[in-house]
Amino acid sequence: MSNPRVAHVGIAVTDLDAATEVYRTLLGHPEHDRETVEAQGVEVVHFEAGGAMLELLQATRADSPIGKFVEKRGEGIHHVAVWVDDLRAELARLATLGVQLVDKVPRVGAGGHLVAFVHPRSTRGVLLELTEKRKDPESP
Ligand code: ZN
Repeated sequence: MSNPRVAHVGIAVTDLDAATEVYRTLLGHPEHDRETVEAQGVEVVHFEAGGAMLELLQATRADSPIGKFVEKRGEGIHHVAVWVDDLRAELARLATLGVQLVDKVPRVGAGGHLVAFVHPRSTRGVLLELTEKRKDPESP
């Protein structure tokens, strides 16, 4: 994994408005953005925190991954995300190492970035998200 940096820490919550208010108070600044990722059945609020983000996640339907997580485990840390330069290459590399991947091919996540998840069985119990910055067609 070349140049991995923490992108965000995902925190599953049951009430996004209340959680956003809590983190505004805790961090002392307003949220960076809010969006719904319908494909994942989730509404997301990001807070800037030291160059990385805290990502609050609320299910928009009970059968979404976050809905199932909250049902089983309650609120709390859901995943840790790291930036990678080339997600497809990284997935291929990890597959050859026998790492268990939730996503064998990248999909589009929050912010339009490409994302793929590594199974907690291969990471000592942490759902790990690999994310590649969206290529902005306007930038060089
Ligand atoms: Zn995430």
